Order: sequence, then structure tokens, then C-alpha cells
Amino acid sequence: MSKKSKTLRPVAADRYVEWLHQACTPQHAVMACIQELQAAGFTERDYAGDLPTTPGERLFVVHPDGKSLISLVIGERSPCATGYAIVGAHTDSPDLRLRLNPLLAAAGTTQLATQFHGGLIRRSWLDRPLGLAGSVFQVVRNKRGVPQFHPLTGQPLLTRQLLRIDEPIAIIPDLAIHLDREKNDKGAINPQNALNAVFATGPEPEAMLKLLSAKAGVALDAADGFDLHLVPLQKPLRTGVDGSLVTGARHDDLAMVWCGLDALVQSVHTEPAPVRTRVAAFFDAEETGSTTASGAASSFLRDVLIRIARRHPDSHGQDPESAFAQTVCLSADMAHAQHPNFPDMHDKNHAPLINQGIVLKSNTADRYATTGETAALLAGLCEAARVPLQAFVTRQDLACGTTIGPIVAASLAVRTVDLGCPMWAMHSAAETLGAHDLESMVAVMQTFFVGKA
Ligand SMILES: [Zn+2]
Repeated sequence: MSKKSKTLRPVAADRYVEWLHQACTPQHAVMACIQELQAAGFTERDYAGDLPTTPGERLFVVHPDGKSLISLVIGERSPCATGYAIVGAHTDSPDLRLRLNPLLAAAGTTQLATQFHGGLIRRSWLDRPLGLAGSVFQVVRNKRGVPQFHPLTGQPLLTRQLLRIDEPIAIIPDLAIHLDREKNDKGAINPQNALNAVFATGPEPEAMLKLLSAKAGVALDAADGFDLHLVPLQKPLRTGVDGSLVTGARHDDLAMVWCGLDALVQSVHTEPAPVRTRVAAFFDAEETGSTTASGAASSFLRDVLIRIARRHPDSHGQDPESAFAQTVCLSADMAHAQHPNFPDMHDKNHAPLINQGIVLKSNTADRYATTGETAALLAGLCEAARVPLQAFVTRQDLACGTTIGPIVAASLAVRTVDLGCPMWAMHSAAETLGAHDLESMVAVMQTFFVGKA
């Protein structure tokens, strides 16, 4: 297989680093996608409204919870004839979020009590400056303090505010080795106590919360609900003396969200009026199994695709579900690169290397959706894009991870391939991937969208 020649400093990675820094929570990731899409002529459509089906139309739909997004370029032909070209990825990453009653006072400090999302590497969150970001909700009340209700839905009216404190407002200090001499050999980190974050010294939690509110520009003490995340403050960095690596939080799976987004936008520049409808679908909650209102196991994607196929001017009354027969999904999630310090953790014939091309993932226990047929489809795309393809099968004596691929495949009954870029330290607060692999992934996804070399 031919190898794409490597530029000295892949510029895609520089754009990715800036974007990733903005995308600090699933909500912020969706906002960062929206900025790119709007700049490329995509318009937002309300999930509750009619979706346009004019060929060439560029649109995106945000789930009402703000954490998942589907963007589309409508094709000339009916999806019933062509199927959809879908790239899927996920917007959430393993992280620490605030408990419902987060304020703690201990050892002369005020702390934020955390709960974890997904299988994070706990120790990677210690001794690391942390910011705070997410959404805060408040019930709308009249002057007498009485909650107001929506006249049609009968639900309490709410306001939602997105906030981000991009300053080191919290820290989770590790325990000194002198107080636990076995920590390097054993070192269990109990998430009930050991991952709570100090955000002030002094015995006045309520006053400190007011200080935090002032920094956030949002009255946190008056919140009726929130989704708040601690955010590793370190901006993603090009690393290695040759700048060939990128180290940062949330590569899993925002690197694949960014590649899917970039490929969709670039495909519009390459060929503005496609034959087949292109779809980039980014879901929340993969790290916890996808079974949420906007996760890959929800009806969000299916609903949007059926509505598009039903109304497409070329469909002529065909059953919209028939669109799934020709549909193919690239399920893009990060892959484990062989680690130079732990080379034996990979099967020797399935050990992808950083900056050596994208990764095909296969698991015959169906933790990945790849089949022989979809592996061959990806091989064709990579050959056309002149991108090397590496293979990953987990060691048979280790448990295999999973992703949205099997879930999308099962819920839409569509042929799906699981792929990703190789990386180290998956689920750490500072993961590392290869800058060249990002360019390779964008090239393959773009070839998939355009449908030709
Ligand atoms: Zn992932």
C-alpha cells in the first residue's frame, strides 16, 4: 500500500489544537462545531421544525439537550436510491463532574465534590490545574418568586446559561508519598474521597461559591440544575522535538469529531452538490454506553434521516426506511497505538503505530461493528486517499473496548466500519496522538463523503 508523503508540520493539527481547546465539554464541543459549520455556509434547523430537503442544502440539527449534533449536505438523489454516507463520533470524554450538592469543607479548605463520567485514569487528574465549564439552569420566576410555566407544554420555564472559567480555579492534590509509602506500587485512588477538588482555603463555602459565581458570570448559588465539568486547564500542545505529536485532554473522541467535521466542510469545497446525502453525526454519552436522550442509542439520528428521506424531492413516495439498505457508516473513535514502554500489550500482528496511518478495528465478539465487507470498503477508501491502513485486534486475553459503531449499526441496520487514529494513554487527562494521522483521517473521510478518488 502506498504511503502519503508527510509534510514537515501538518497544519491540520494546528487548527485542531485551537478547536479542541474551545471544545471543553460536550456542550462546548457542539458550539465549536456550530462555529465551523456556520462559517462554511451551514444553517441551523430546529429539531422540532421542518427539515429542508433541497439538494445542495447544508444544515445542522442540535439535539435539544445541546450535547449532540447532526450535520448534513443534502444530495441530488433520494437517500432511498443512494443511501446515506454517515461519519459518526462522540462528543463526551471521561471526566469529573460536580455532584448535586458539591460543596464540602475539610481540612481548612472548601472543596467541589466530584463524580466521574466514563472510565477515566484517575491519577491523571491529580496535581493538575483545573477550570470549570458547563451549563446552568434556572427556573423562571415572577416578581413574587412563583415559577412560570410554558402555556403549551405545561412545563416550568427554564433559562440555560453556558459557562466557562478558563482559569486554574481548582486542584486535586495527591497525597505525599511519605504518608503512603506503598502508593507507587499499589496506589488505589478511591473516587469517593480522593478526587474532590480544592477550590479555596477557609471555612466559608457559601462565600467561596459567590466568588466562583463572579468568575463564571453566572449565579451558581441560585442554580436549580447544572451540568458542570472540571476541565484540565492545560491547552493542547504540539509535542515531540519534531512537533509530530499532539498532547491534550479529550482526544477521545473529539479528535474524530474534528476530523469528521473538517472532512464534511472540505467536501463541500471540493464538490458542493453531491449525489448522495452526507451526514456527520456526533453523539454524547458514548463513554457510559450511549443510552441517553441524545446518545447513539437514542432515535435522534434515525428520526432525522427518516424525515429527510421521506421529504426528499427525488423520493416519490418511497418508504424512507429503504434508505438504510445502501447506507454505510464510518464509526470513528480513537484506537490504542502500540506503546514504546509496554509493547507486549498488543497482539504483534495488530499493533498500530503513531503517525503510520489510520486504524481499522475488528472484534468478532461484535464489540466493533466491522465486518469483512466493511473492512474491504475501508481498504478501498484508504487506497483512493493514499493513506496507509493499520489493523487492530485486541489481545485475546484482554477485554476489548467498544464504541458507537455497533449501536448505530444495530439501530439503523446499516453496514458499519469501526476506525480511528492511534493514540497513547486513552482516557488520561493528557492523551497523545499523532499529528500526521489527523490529516490521514480527514483525507479518508473526505474520500468517503465525495464518493470517488
Ligand atoms: Zn471514544
